[in-house]
Amino acid sequence: MTMATNMTPSGQEPLLDVRNLETWYGPIAAMQGVNLSVRKGQMVAVLGANGAGKTTLLNTLAGVVDPFKGEVLWQGERIHGLDADAVCRRGLVLVPEGRQIYPFLSVRDNLAMGAFTRKDEAGVREDLARVLGWFPRLREREQQHAGLLSGGEQQMLAIGRAYLARPQLLMLDEPSLGLSPLLTKEIFAIVSRIRSETGTAILVVEQNAAIALAHADDGYIMELGRIVAADSCAALSQKADVREAYLGGHAVQTASGTAQRWKRRRTWR
Ligand code: ATP
Repeated sequence: MTMATNMTPSGQEPLLDVRNLETWYGPIAAMQGVNLSVRKGQMVAVLGANGAGKTTLLNTLAGVVDPFKGEVLWQGERIHGLDADAVCRRGLVLVPEGRQIYPFLSVRDNLAMGAFTRKDEAGVREDLARVLGWFPRLREREQQHAGLLSGGEQQMLAIGRAYLARPQLLMLDEPSLGLSPLLTKEIFAIVSRIRSETGTAILVVEQNAAIALAHADDGYIMELGRIVAADSCAALSQKADVREAYLGGHAVQTASGTAQRWKRRRTWR
């Protein structure tokens, strides 16, 4: 069923429209009242500290966990509650936290696993060549066990594997985790390239706010399971409290409770 859609912070109609989403683990509410949109070809970042609910959000969108409440609309279709493979077949593909590659399979077989839903062999071959072009280091190690790759190379493999599922929306769970600043930069540059060359939309959750805000169009800030700010990344980067809490800026004391809020935020990191 097609629904009327919300507008994104940038004011365009979304591909993905998340409304009032809520997920619990037993008695724990990990995420509540989450509204978020991604439009075609857009890159959206969700920022937040440890335990903010970022992984829960992506796992809920990917069908790994079921929401208790709310809606996930994908091109107008309700997809919340679908199994993970049904979500993947619709073009929402997750690169999970910690990569989760298959260490005892070769790099090439790991990539092939990404295409398990596809029947178009020629298309898969074409996409495989494209991925190996984006990640020459994977080409060099194609026949090696994936477990022998460095952390950065495993992240490249996880992204390449996800691309072989032919996503319309690539969801990345903390791609910078455990990587050096240089490798993080490299990964984000390739993700931006994937987006510009293929029109794939990107939804990335990150603790590294600076790099995510530098690459994404719109950003959301998540705190204790809720979205507390949503705007274009350019605007978020200028906000004093965002700079203070996420970008290492200097706090400017203002009236009525703002300083107190920062104090609480500072304890996150
Ligand atoms: P991180 O950056 O550390 O991965 P996050 O922002 O991704 O954090 P989540 O992993 O989504 O946050 O966790 C949100 C909340 O839900 C936390 O309080 C966490 O302890 C809790 N939580 C996550 N997974 C489970 C689970 N399987 N069972 C119970 N509680 C969970």
